[in-house]
Amino acid sequence: MSPVTIILSIVAGMTFMLAVVHSLVWVRDRTASLNLLFSISAASAAIIAVMELALMHAHTPDEFGTILRWMHVPAAAITISIVWFIRSYLGTGRLWLAWAITGLRVVALIINFSVSPNVTFEAVHALNSVSFLGETLSVPVGDNNPWRLLIHLSMLLLLIYVIDAAIVAGKQERVRKALVMGISISFGILLAAVLSGLMVRGILPGPFTSIVYLCIVLPMALELSMDLIHTRELSRKLTESEERMRLTARAADLGLWYWDIVRDEIWINDFGSGRIAKPASGNTSLDHYMTLVHPVDRKSLREALDRATEDDQDFQAEFRIGDPNGSERWIAASGQVERGAHGEPLRLRGISIDISTQKQFEDALERSRSALTHSQRISAMGQLSMALAHELNQPLGAILRNAEAGEINLRHDPLDIDELRAIFVDIQNDGQRAAEVINHMRALFRYRELRMETIALSDLIREVEDLLTPELKRRHVTLSTTISDSLPDICGDHIHLQQVLLNLIINSMDAMETKETASRHIEIFAGRADGGQIELAVKDTGAGFGPDQLGRLFEAFYTTKPDGMGMGLAICKTIIESHGGQIRAENNKESGACVSFTLPVHQDECVT
Ligand code: ADP
Repeated sequence: MSPVTIILSIVAGMTFMLAVVHSLVWVRDRTASLNLLFSISAASAAIIAVMELALMHAHTPDEFGTILRWMHVPAAAITISIVWFIRSYLGTGRLWLAWAITGLRVVALIINFSVSPNVTFEAVHALNSVSFLGETLSVPVGDNNPWRLLIHLSMLLLLIYVIDAAIVAGKQERVRKALVMGISISFGILLAAVLSGLMVRGILPGPFTSIVYLCIVLPMALELSMDLIHTRELSRKLTESEERMRLTARAADLGLWYWDIVRDEIWINDFGSGRIAKPASGNTSLDHYMTLVHPVDRKSLREALDRATEDDQDFQAEFRIGDPNGSERWIAASGQVERGAHGEPLRLRGISIDISTQKQFEDALERSRSALTHSQRISAMGQLSMALAHELNQPLGAILRNAEAGEINLRHDPLDIDELRAIFVDIQNDGQRAAEVINHMRALFRYRELRMETIALSDLIREVEDLLTPELKRRHVTLSTTISDSLPDICGDHIHLQQVLLNLIINSMDAMETKETASRHIEIFAGRADGGQIELAVKDTGAGFGPDQLGRLFEAFYTTKPDGMGMGLAICKTIIESHGGQIRAENNKESGACVSFTLPVHQDECVT
């Protein structure tokens, strides 16, 4: 066998093998478009090598013309597949150039099959037999087809396209890939020009295009193999990191999960040694999972999922879920949504932890906080008890006096019915007044946890004012209230907010103890804060805060009073913050102190 036949057979064999291997990769993974494009290039190079052999051994001009005509099919295929391979592999390359080259090759192919014998020759007149490397080969004598310019143009565009794509990729720090692809393809195209020049000068019997394509296909194969090695390395690292993650998750009692949004399948690992109920058969749908969630928490969990998938926020939720023993556990879950190319949510991945113990502590803490708030309230009420007792004395004394007057009236003959009726009405009114004071005190003495309701600010302030009136009188303090027009209702706990106002007013009264009685004045302001919230302020004309006091006022047990507990302002802060507001203290410009707090405006939903 001659060297030409051997070389072209080797080229055909090599490129064919590469095509088979990469098409198998594509068959197994249909997303591996690079392998598909490469196997088209390699298969085309193999076909070109075989056809080139047939071309060099053609016996007649017709046979030569027909083989060359069909050779343009793999030639077009390889050019087009290289264009799209580069774009996909380097992630660069001008789209309009890619389409221009593809279009030119398709047009050239159409013309190739519309003219005779092909797009290269207008006519093949004869075949000359030349001896090359010990073999007799056919060389055509014919007229060039002007349409072959289309092919030359496409090759020139390919050269520009490749160099441009390689430069852009190089700038994006993919220098090695850019160099390998840029140099090999440019070299291939230039080699093709040299070979065809040698053929025209009669030095070579053919253009040996398959060898040119081999120079392009081999570096492409090399690059794909490097990627394969890289992928294997990544896969090894991934396995290691998964193993590490599994161990960490187990050690930290972390649950790992994901929700395949498209298929609606939830997968959960063996969270906390299977303490949490999870679907018996691996994956489950969201609706089914929801049946395991405590009915009260389902709505908030759904909302958190909607926010994550629709508003692109991080997923955060706390909910209760049944465990295999039939009891329930608190779970805190957080995660992030993975999105597709068009921003559509594909998967939600995250972790969860069992926070049941933490929740138990929180409940216990909340209970003791409520108990503390309650005892502070009783302490505050204790301070008012003298004045309140005095306040109760009045209606009770009046009732007694009216009862006596009634009894005397009964001894008269005839009975003065009108007088008696007036006495009963007075007794009724006084009894009602006393009952109101007692009821109010009972409500404040009663233990209760935070219970939200809709409250009109004016009512809240008036009730506290009523309760404090006797004490204000006793201490010679005047109180005025200014409420801005059309203030909306607030959402809060009636008794707890009264406690806040009570504390602040008692503190103000304490702070004015040393002042002249004529200057003891408290002002309550209710209006809108900057952010649209409601603001309440209690201003006094007392001693004000010392400079070193301001930073410590809200600390628990901070007091300057000999018999003080130092819990009043700390509790006010807890109550206001649990309402979503903020509290602050400052000195008035003139004299005295001002403690103000904000409260959110009542929304449609006031959780009671
Ligand atoms: P207590 O009233 O038991 O001392 P608080 O937490 O209510 O506890 O108050 C802490 C301290 O803040 C008080 O001891 C007092 O020194 C200071 N304080 C609070 N309100 C005022 C005020 N209106 N004017 C001046 N000082 C105040």
